[in-house]
Amino acid sequence: MADQQAVETFLDNNPQVAKAYYEKKLKAEVLGAAFTEKVDIKDTASFNEATKIVEAGFIFEFINEMKGTGPMEKCLHKVLQRLVLLLKADRCSYFTSRSRNGIPELSTLLFDVTATSSLPQNLVNPNAEIVFPTDMGIVGKTAVSKKSFNVPDVKQNSHFSDFVDKMTGFTTKCLLTAPIVSGTEAIGVVMVLNKQGANEFSKADEDLFNKYMAFASVIVVHGHTSYMHNVEYRKSQVLLESASKVFEELTDIERQFHKALYTVRVYLNCERYSVGLLDMTKEKEFFDEWPIKLGEQEPYKGPKTPDGREVNFYKIIDYLLEDKEEIKVIPAPPVDHWALASGLPTYVAENGMICNMMNAPADEYFTFQKDAVDETGWKIKNVLSLPIVNKKEEIVGVATFFNRKDGKPFEENDEQITEALTQFLGWSTLNCDTYDRLNQTEWKKEIAHEILMYQSKATPAQVQSILNTKEKFDKLPEDCDQKEMYKLLRSNIPECKDMDILEFHFSDLPLQETDLIRCGIRCFFELGVVEKFKVPAEVLTRWMYTVRKGYRDITYHNWRHGFNVGQTMFTLLMTGKLKKYYSDLEAFAMVAAGFCHDIDHRGTNNLYQTKSASPLARLHGSSIMERHHLEFSKSLMGDETINIFQNLQKRQFETVQHLFDVCIIATDLALYFKKRTMFQKIVDTVEPMADEKEAINHISTNPTRKEIIMAMMMTACDLSAITKPWQVQSKVAVMVAAEFWEQGDLERTVLDQEPIPMMDRNKAEELPKMQCGFIDFVCAFVYKEFSRFHKEITPMLNGLNINREEWKKLADVHAAKVQALEDAKKKLEGGNEEADAVYRTPAFELQVKAEPPH
Ligand SMILES: [Zn+2]
Repeated sequence: MADQQAVETFLDNNPQVAKAYYEKKLKAEVLGAAFTEKVDIKDTASFNEATKIVEAGFIFEFINEMKGTGPMEKCLHKVLQRLVLLLKADRCSYFTSRSRNGIPELSTLLFDVTATSSLPQNLVNPNAEIVFPTDMGIVGKTAVSKKSFNVPDVKQNSHFSDFVDKMTGFTTKCLLTAPIVSGTEAIGVVMVLNKQGANEFSKADEDLFNKYMAFASVIVVHGHTSYMHNVEYRKSQVLLESASKVFEELTDIERQFHKALYTVRVYLNCERYSVGLLDMTKEKEFFDEWPIKLGEQEPYKGPKTPDGREVNFYKIIDYLLEDKEEIKVIPAPPVDHWALASGLPTYVAENGMICNMMNAPADEYFTFQKDAVDETGWKIKNVLSLPIVNKKEEIVGVATFFNRKDGKPFEENDEQITEALTQFLGWSTLNCDTYDRLNQTEWKKEIAHEILMYQSKATPAQVQSILNTKEKFDKLPEDCDQKEMYKLLRSNIPECKDMDILEFHFSDLPLQETDLIRCGIRCFFELGVVEKFKVPAEVLTRWMYTVRKGYRDITYHNWRHGFNVGQTMFTLLMTGKLKKYYSDLEAFAMVAAGFCHDIDHRGTNNLYQTKSASPLARLHGSSIMERHHLEFSKSLMGDETINIFQNLQKRQFETVQHLFDVCIIATDLALYFKKRTMFQKIVDTVEPMADEKEAINHISTNPTRKEIIMAMMMTACDLSAITKPWQVQSKVAVMVAAEFWEQGDLERTVLDQEPIPMMDRNKAEELPKMQCGFIDFVCAFVYKEFSRFHKEITPMLNGLNINREEWKKLADVHAAKVQALEDAKKKLEGGNEEADAVYRTPAFELQVKAEPPH
């Protein structure tokens, strides 16, 4: 082995070998080994002499670092630390540039890096970021101008801002800054502070600094690119996923919202988000106007959307992703709901602006909760809230995102992603809209077609079966004298007293369906509206017959039920003496609406329409069936040959139309609970009035009170079967139940769903118990209040109470049988046929089997 001297001699004589050797070996290994992370630099001055070698080592290190997959911050920290060392500076910082709410700003990412500080010391916690706009300070100036600066004395520089010095207690004397540029934008700024042993940085320092900026740039741009790549990826995923979901389902807006939002949750990179859906109705329903008109409720003075709607979040979907995934749907959310309480979503709904807030709880305008919003201990930090706008520029909802998962505030890219998402959601509602509009015609056609198929206007022969002008006068109705025809018609229809038409205990069961048509006509003659409003006899006959034909032959909601409601309305007005508050025209409309109120019922309720996505459900948003009955009834007014209101003046006709709206929509039991207390208040006020005139005046001069009573009368009529003599009620209740069971069967077979107990024929034994519940929770109030209002209506309450007792007896019998069965089961342990047989024989089974009377 050659000794050291021999090697040196050889190398001196063969410099090209030495050069080749060093080039190959020195850079890669020797320097690499010499300048590892662990280099402990104590005396920077002695290091200075080896600058060139040191630099080479640094460069090697950086390249090594950059090849790796370590975070950008770690690599950049190393560069800054070396910079401090080489420039003999006090400290160095890196500011990252971003944009929020369209305003560019800078924030500290690596702060106060010194030759010996560690990465964890310098890496700024997102909660402790110093943030300032780019129009502030020399750093801001660097970002905006994308130029480097060497400032010898900051006090002499007008751009210098000492707010950071004030925060940290450090005194800046001189500084160097350089932007890091990607494409055309500055994505960050490096700043080096205070030259040790001199008052300013020299030209040489500046050059060295700029040279190192090349490395810093590579590192930062690389980091930025991969971040942007991720952003782009997330963006495209958001678009892809939400797009496919949006176009997949075009009918149910809410489900669509949810699907899109649920699918993108992994890309949104935030701890929680909440979507508030806004009520789209521009005009209030008449029943929602009542409390305002009565002065019981202040008119709405709160915030409105730009298109004039009240800001009303009717539903909220919360996506809680901070821990285990949880999604909550909150219908009619309270105002203090965690996502609404701050007032930010309302503000966004009102102004249509994107709001990006860092450290939201510190904000003074909005009242974000400063501590945990719920029992999970989760707290709000940063918030990004955006409107969801459809193509008609209407705000359909507000999406609010909380706390980016990496702890940083939301920035421009998040704004873009979420904006893309909310745009899609908005478009989806547009799609629903256009799709709806396109199809509404289709659905209308479909419904119209069904109606045509099912029913038609009364034929001349049918009219003749009641108004027999051909037989009597050998003439068609149009050739007869009206007075003669009135006389004829009156003689062909039963008297009230013969058929108990004026009685609350009236029963349709012994009557034929055509008898009921005649009875219906009698009601109008009795009210005195036929001659008064010049209703042609044949038109009245044709209308009444056509209404009958409009009802389908279903188990309960058939013509018999329709007639009963009209008859009860008539009886309430006449026998119940409620007519005194209403004009003849109003009474006319109320009774007519009663007869029509369930026309074209299909034996299934509103919920079934929604669940089965029937054309009716697509056409009407709420009170689906009732709106259909209403439209159907109004369509009869459109045909002059059946329009009983044809000789009214325009204003009178409009009144009738409005009363039809009120009366028929009021039969939606869902609205009953809204009007209960308002009705009770009227009764409370009128009851102590000694003078009848005072009561009449209190009501008949106030259209709202009249409407509320009218609406409650419709409910009293619709539920009147519950007040009928027991032998009638027991039969009708079984018909109602049978129709419910038929719907239950449909739910099982068509919708593949378990029906509720009320509609489950396997729970038929529970009918008496359910009747008791129905009487107690729904019916009792109606008839109690009406009896208090007008003592003439007490027969209804008495009937109800008797039926309550009867149902209770049956319920007790059933309960006893169930108890006996359980006891028997306990005794015998296991299957027992005898006990089962007891269980299967409900007291009213005979009635179930009984033929519905026709
Ligand atoms: Zn009804």
